[in-house]
Amino acid sequence: MENCIFCKIIAGEIPSAKVYEDETCVAFNDISPQAPTHLLIIPREHFDSLDKAENGHKETLGHLLYVAAQIARDKGFAEDGYRVVINTNRNGGQTVYHLHVHLLGGRPFIFPPG
Ligand code: 5GP
Ligand code: ZN
Repeated sequence: MENCIFCKIIAGEIPSAKVYEDETCVAFNDISPQAPTHLLIIPREHFDSLDKAENGHKETLGHLLYVAAQIARDKGFAEDGYRVVINTNRNGGQTVYHLHVHLLGGRPFIFPPG
């Protein structure tokens, strides 16, 4: 997808601090971290938002959540707890229109998040 910054990160055209990658997804540090650990987990396949999810995306969507859980365990904050967020469209606060899962850990979070 042209002019998508996350597609450019996947292609290596924009640098990022990658922490995990596999055939389905890439995880890297958010450029503006909101917690001691703040990663974005994105599918290699571009789709705009959760609002555009189709039946064929179900395996990828499950995989993104599983990878979030694995990274949280690997980084050692899973037992204390963490926050997984998918901002969706304008009212959801989405700013980058390539679906992404935020994984935030290392501090307590309040709910609702505002
Ligand atoms: P959204 O607001 O769409 O849920 O989240 C987009 C996230 O992408 C934000 O947390 C923002 O800091 C992050 N972000 C935007 N541009 C870049 C970039 O070029 N590199 C990285 N690593 N993160 C980015
Ligand atoms: Zn993209």
